[in-house]
Amino acid sequence: MEKLRLRYYPDRILKQKALEIKNIDGSIRALSQEMLRIMRASRGVGLAGNQVGCLKSIVVIDALEGLLETPLVLINPRIRQAEGEMIGEEGCLSLPGMSATVRRHERICAAFLDLDGQPMEIEARGLMARIIQHETDHLTGVLYPQHLPLVTRRSFLREYREKERDRARRL
Ligand SMILES: [Zn+2]
Repeated sequence: MEKLRLRYYPDRILKQKALEIKNIDGSIRALSQEMLRIMRASRGVGLAGNQVGCLKSIVVIDALEGLLETPLVLINPRIRQAEGEMIGEEGCLSLPGMSATVRRHERICAAFLDLDGQPMEIEARGLMARIIQHETDHLTGVLYPQHLPLVTRRSFLREYREKERDRARRL
């Protein structure tokens, strides 16, 4: 497997669409393990293929206390139903040091394949629904600032670029 590393905005791969996975083999299982490792090392709760430079339709979600017993791997996930509305704080490993208030659906139902290629469905609400919406967005090349009103988005990206410049200076 090629060496995977976290990709940061404005890396172009974050704006590209991930491709459907046709064949779930050992390489996909290895990819999911490596994504889980990278996600945990960065203290994230979810990670999509694009974010490690791999344009495959795969998402990993960490085991969250009270929400998940074991990590979740979603292959070719699609949100089938979405209802309600909620507002909450969101961050992203590809936009380090930033967060913003994002409007999302409160409840969702998503279809996906598991690592054995079995069709599965998950119903989620609250935080888990937020994570799944955030991660499936990544697979279509969408980052959460795109959900912000234009003026808020502009100041968000300006602040991000300033932080990036400071980081680069310190290196
Ligand atoms: Zn993200």
